[in-house]
Amino acid sequence: MHQVTLIPGDGTGPELCEVVKKVVAATGVKINWDVQEAGADVIQKYGTPLLDNVLKSVRKTHVALKGPITTPIGSGFRSVNVALRRELDLFACVRPCRTYPGVKSKYQNIDLVVVRENTEDLYAGVEFPAGSKEAQQIIGLGAGKIHAESAISIKPISRQGTERIVRYAFEYALKHKRKKVTAVTKANIMKCTDGLFLEAARSVAKQYDGRIEYEERLIDNMCMQLVLKPELYDVLVLPNLYGDIISDLCAGLIGGLGVAPGANIGDSVALFEAVHGSAPKYKGMNKVNPAAMLLSAKLMLDHLGEHAAAQNLEKAVSAVISEGKTVTYDLGGKAGTREMGDAIIDKLSK
Ligand code: NAD
Repeated sequence: MHQVTLIPGDGTGPELCEVVKKVVAATGVKINWDVQEAGADVIQKYGTPLLDNVLKSVRKTHVALKGPITTPIGSGFRSVNVALRRELDLFACVRPCRTYPGVKSKYQNIDLVVVRENTEDLYAGVEFPAGSKEAQQIIGLGAGKIHAESAISIKPISRQGTERIVRYAFEYALKHKRKKVTAVTKANIMKCTDGLFLEAARSVAKQYDGRIEYEERLIDNMCMQLVLKPELYDVLVLPNLYGDIISDLCAGLIGGLGVAPGANIGDSVALFEAVHGSAPKYKGMNKVNPAAMLLSAKLMLDHLGEHAAAQNLEKAVSAVISEGKTVTYDLGGKAGTREMGDAIIDKLSK
């Protein structure tokens, strides 16, 4: 029996997690879910979207599956997703992007893995509003290069943080028999921060010389290359913000957010979640695609050492998608979240 924290999240998260629980149970893997509430729906009840209990549970179980959580734009609470990654030091965000037959996409045979640094960069949360004393101080340091009254967001990147994410990308490549790691930055412009990322990436890459190929791209060129020639790339390693954007680009290459899973990995804790958000307009409508959450659960099963069940689950998801009969609206079907989940259960080999 595995102990796993389940954070259903908000918006469409809870209905997706219900389906995931049912499908995972049908694989035969025994999981004792410690269900922990977090997100927009609990703010009224507890005055905060993230209680300490959630963190305590994940620190105890070491493994969590999480539904999406809404982040209010511009004001309100800081992102619970970012807080979880920071508090649990989930430094690596891993997003495998693979084409599943049957998904309508302009591209075929995509097989990429995005490894995104998860704790530093512009997502560190060090921001100062326009007109604040701190912003004024930094504007003073800018020696005339920053407009007065600017708001400021700080972009910290460390050698230590970069080395561990790049090492993770190379180790991932070795473990999963991948051939190449590409480091992606804008080091020609951001010479200090992205320059340090690149320098640290090069020094780690040297340790894998002869085992895994290494190359570098600038982020703007990388976007174009992925649209034109995605087959040239394998494992991509990026600082936080570029990694976030490229993850959605790669989700687009494989047919959308409905089929894009993800994992957030730390030294002692792993948290699995889909790339997509809470899709609040579909909350409670039994409408959205459960495949991304189920494929995230597949990654979790692999992490738990349940490789046969993980493979069984992935095959069943793939079979339902390629058959195209019981799929949700985003895959061109009319099935609901629960019906697609049930069809996946029917495809599991018993
Ligand atoms: P979103 O991913 O929720 O939705 C974007 C589009 O994709 C919408 O058209 C939606 O209908 C569609 N979509 C999303 N998931 C789908 C699924 N499973 N099946 C079919 N279609 C799906 O992105 P958004 O609208 O930018 O964000 C909504 C909220 O979610 C925001 O508050 C955002 O901050 C949050 N968010 C959370 C996470 C997370 O919890 N890790 C990730 C991204 C966004």
